Amino acid sequence: MKTLTWTAPNVMAIREAREPELVPGWVLLQVGGAAICGSEIAGYLGHNELRHPPLIMGHEFSGTVARLGEGVTQLAVGEVVTANPLVSCGQCRHCRQGNRQRCLSRRIIGIDFPGAFAEWVAVPASQCYPIGDIVDGALVEPYACGVRAVGLAQVEIGDEAMVIGAGIIGLMVMRILRRAGASRVVAVDTNVHRLELAQEWGATDTLTPDRINHEAMGQRLDRVIDAVGFSDTRALSVKVLRRGGCAVWIGLHENPTGLAGNAVVRDEIDIRGSFCYTDSEFQRAVDLVNAGQAFPQSRDWLDIRPLEDGDAAFAEQASPEARFAKIVLTV
Ligand SMILES: [Zn+2]
Ligand SMILES: [Zn+2]
Repeated sequence: MKTLTWTAPNVMAIREAREPELVPGWVLLQVGGAAICGSEIAGYLGHNELRHPPLIMGHEFSGTVARLGEGVTQLAVGEVVTANPLVSCGQCRHCRQGNRQRCLSRRIIGIDFPGAFAEWVAVPASQCYPIGDIVDGALVEPYACGVRAVGLAQVEIGDEAMVIGAGIIGLMVMRILRRAGASRVVAVDTNVHRLELAQEWGATDTLTPDRINHEAMGQRLDRVIDAVGFSDTRALSVKVLRRGGCAVWIGLHENPTGLAGNAVVRDEIDIRGSFCYTDSEFQRAVDLVNAGQAFPQSRDWLDIRPLEDGDAAFAEQASPEARFAKIVLTV
């Protein structure tokens, strides 16, 4: 089968590979669309410790069920689905508590298994969800990440919030925050074009980091979501909160992080990490996408290209001038 394979830092190559093996309980999808994730850009550049070349990436995808593994009864050939790419053991305490994203032996399709930048991808049948549209279906996975981050922030009606980073996860979080009742959503990003997109996604105020007035902000913000993950953005997420406020960290970039720890204690700041999603959060994302309520009407944040153009698309997304918040590669 044809694949887009990451072969070395900064190189994505169209390569032939063997079809993925079909094991009991899994199905083979003919890939329709696969979206490029920010974490894969880090991988492509060689900055991600979990990804090693050669690797077929792609964990945000949709496709048509083409072959059923032994024992699969809940899906039929021809169904159009997206899949939760998080593979868990089902046995550990976290799996048993419904927190598969914390599974002690969790693995992810596109990292630990061959992913969806290919003609075919194998996925567990139990993790497939029917979807109405191939491109929108490839956007469910990042949306589910946003659903979890906003859920962990425990937003109350009228809360004032800040979202640091207007990449696709940050944008999705802005929209979900508004739906959850936030009266104000301040978007922060260094890229002015991204801040324009943020307004379409529900941001009420936009700021470049140099224009943040910490003292003025610190009186008001109830919730802050850091969708970047640098030491500086994490520190900012805490600094602008009111006493008793909540910061949710979803971005992954820089491991060592410097914080004003005494302020966290004295102001009773709640800091929470958010990783992937539970099955129920993934289902909510599917429902919002299928209901046509997940995305703003304008689609100027999205571009759709053939898999063959993947190398250029990865290079473009890695550059600071990247124009599109999301690129979906179609197969
Ligand atoms: Zn992703
Ligand atoms: Zn487990």
